[in-house]
Amino acid sequence: MTITEDAQTVSVREALTRLENLGLGILAGAKKIIENIQRVRNRIEHHRYDHSEKEDDAVIAESLKFILYFVEFGLKRKLDDQIDSNLLREIKRRVWEYNERQSLAEFRFHEWLRTVWPDWKEEEDLPEEFGGTCRCPECAQDWLVIGWHDKPFCFDCNTTIDADECEHCGRTFLVKSGCDCVAYELEEDGRA
Ligand SMILES: [Zn+2]
Ligand SMILES: [Zn+2]
Repeated sequence: MTITEDAQTVSVREALTRLENLGLGILAGAKKIIENIQRVRNRIEHHRYDHSEKEDDAVIAESLKFILYFVEFGLKRKLDDQIDSNLLREIKRRVWEYNERQSLAEFRFHEWLRTVWPDWKEEEDLPEEFGGTCRCPECAQDWLVIGWHDKPFCFDCNTTIDADECEHCGRTFLVKSGCDCVAYELEEDGRA
C-alpha cells in the first residue's frame, strides 16, 4: 500500500505491519484485541450495535490492557505523568479485574480438560482431538467450547450458551439474534 498526502488514515492491518517493522512487535493476544475492537467499531458504524453491557466491559478492559502494556513494554514509557492519577488507578483496576477474570476462566477450562483428558498436563498444548475455544457471543471472551457438551459451554460465563457458528463468516453468534456479518462483511478491513 502506498501512502500519499491524501491518505490521512491507515488500515488496521497496515498499522500492525508498521509497528512490527519498527520492532514494536505486537504483544501476544494484542492482534486479536485490535481486530475485535475493529469489529465493534464496524457494528457501531452500521447502527447494529446491540449494547450488551458484558461485551462493552470486556472490550473496554481489553483495550485498556492493550494500551497499558503497549506503553510500558512496547514504548517503554509510563503514563503516570500523562494521566490523572485517580483515572490511572481506575484503569489499572479494570485491567487487573480483567486479568483475574481471565485466569479464573482458564482455571475452570483446565479443570474441565483434565476431566475429559485425564493425562493432559497444563504445560502441554491442548489435546489434539480438541479443536480449541471460540469467542463467546455473550461475554465476548474466547472461552466458548462447542461440541463437547449438550450445548456450547462458556468457561467465563460458566454456563451453557445458545450459540452457533456462522456458516458465512465462521464467527459465533447468539442463535436468538443471528449473525450480523452480512451487512459489513465487505468492510472488515475498514479504515481507522
Ligand atoms: Zn461467555
Ligand atoms: Zn456471520
